[in-house]
Order: sequence, then structure tokens, then C-alpha cells
Amino acid sequence: MIELEDVRKAYQMGKITVPVLHGIDLTIEDGEMVAIMGPSGSGKTTLMNILGCLDVPTSGRYLLDGTDVSRLSDNRLAKIRSSEIGFVFQSFNLVSRTSAIRNVELPLIYAGARARRDSARLALEQVGLGDRQKHMPNELSGGQQQRVAIARALINDPTLLLADEPTGNLDTTSSIEIMRLLCTLNDAGHTVVIITHEEEVARFAKRVVRMRDGLIESDQVQRSRSQISA
Ligand code: ADP
Ligand code: MG
Repeated sequence: MIELEDVRKAYQMGKITVPVLHGIDLTIEDGEMVAIMGPSGSGKTTLMNILGCLDVPTSGRYLLDGTDVSRLSDNRLAKIRSSEIGFVFQSFNLVSRTSAIRNVELPLIYAGARARRDSARLALEQVGLGDRQKHMPNELSGGQQQRVAIARALINDPTLLLADEPTGNLDTTSSIEIMRLLCTLNDAGHTVVIITHEEEVARFAKRVVRMRDGLIESDQVQRSRSQISA
């Protein structure tokens, strides 16, 4: 489903061009669960932004389900994002003073969809928070807030779930809970790509791609992967 061919990215900072990705070739099939690892500054978030159609490569091709998305307009990219891709971030990015269920509904409100409450309730139940619908973000633990964010990412039933350091702000127990949830979603058919620099987190993935200085350094299938059950 995802095919990157010689993808390069450089940022323009005034007159200076900062090259960040130096030629990435990567294929991710439907149903995979991939961890992207690498030191800070190696280009993981830049790559994730391209995978998530938040940004386009400077050169190279990105085929998503056979469509070359590397040259699409912002409008077309926004459509693909809202229908195909769910995002999860390190800092949860929930709207404060807004209930869990309302946070989950937000993407549907932006899309002008009807029957939002039922979908939002289902999504919260899917992440194990059916009994926390009316709670505000500050009345939830970090792990619960991240689960709300995952429910929000699931609300449009995306094929691809992208998570940039989803456990970066969580303690070990909550991190493992979140990884188990992502594994369950992967088992249910979502393709999952997670950026992390924690080995314990990456152990849940079926495949680990390691980046260094804007290039893929290694790409390995994990045989002894952590299992969902304890
Ligand atoms: P990682 O997620 O692996 O820490 P990033 O993709 O965030 O790495 O950043 C890779 C490099 O690109 C860094 O050197 C960073 O300073 C630079 N960079 C990232 N985003 C921008 C931007 N919007 N403008 C200029 N440089 C950027
Ligand atoms: Mg990053």
C-alpha cells in the first residue's frame, strides 16, 4: 500500500537549504505493524509527515494505494488524510475543557458528518473507555488521554494509523497498555506505523526500520516480538 522511491526532503530556511532525507526507499504492505527508530534528528518525523500526507517530498515518489501522492495539491492531500489516515502524537493533542466523547467526535464535525455520537461512543468503547465519555482530558490519566486520542484517530476508520512517539510522555505500564491497544488494532486490520526510540515499545512491532542521518540503516522482521497478552 505504501511505496516510497528515492524520497528526498530538504527544508528551505531563508537562503539556506537543509537536506534531511537523502533517498528513502520503503515499502509497507497492508496490515503491517512497523516501528521506525533512530536517533533524534535522523528524520523520523519528517518521514512520518510525508507518509501521513502532511508534507510532500522534495523529490522522489510516494505511491499510496497506487496513487502518486507526492505531487498532489493541498486540497487533495487533505481529503486523503481525512479518509485514509489516523494520527496519534506524543502530546495527545486533545482539546482541553472538552469531554472525551466530544474530542473523539471532532474529526466528524469537521467533515460535516451526521450520527456522530454513536460512532464516537463506539470508538471510545473500542479503546476501553466506554465509561469515561464525559470526562475532561485533565480528569484522565496520560494513558487514558492517549487512548482518547487513538479513538479520535479511529473515528474515520482509517486504513493507516501513524503514531509519532505515542508513548513518549507515558510511564512504562501505560506505554505497554498503549502498545497492546495498537497491536489489537493492527490485528483488526489497520496498518500501523509507530515512531519510537524505546526498544521495549519497538518490540511490539512486526518489523523495525532504523534510520540514521536521513537514510534507512536497517530494516528487519522481528521474530521474537512481544505478544499482546502479558
Ligand atoms: P526526528 O523526528 O528523527 O528527531 P526530524 O524529522 O524532526 O527528526 O528532523 C530531522 C532534521 O530536520 C533535524 O535536523 C531538524 O532540525 C530538521 N527539520 C525538521 N523540521 C524542519 C523544518 N520545518 N524546517 C527546517 N528544518 C527542519
Ligand atoms: Mg521526531
